[in-house]
Amino acid sequence: MSEESDIVFVCMRCGRKSSLKELEQLPEIKCICGYRVLRKDRPSLVRQVKAV
Ligand SMILES: [Zn+2]
Repeated sequence: MSEESDIVFVCMRCGRKSSLKELEQLPEIKCICGYRVLRKDRPSLVRQVKAV
């Protein structure tokens, strides 16, 4: 399973989450607030760190 649409971007200014599918409909990759700095947020990536 590798759904590209699962990738979510988080705006570094307002914190709004936009899916890649949403952003692809825009002329450029940016948040609806106009800010262009987005952080990739992959909910499927869960890291478990064991402190032994
Ligand atoms: Zn924003």
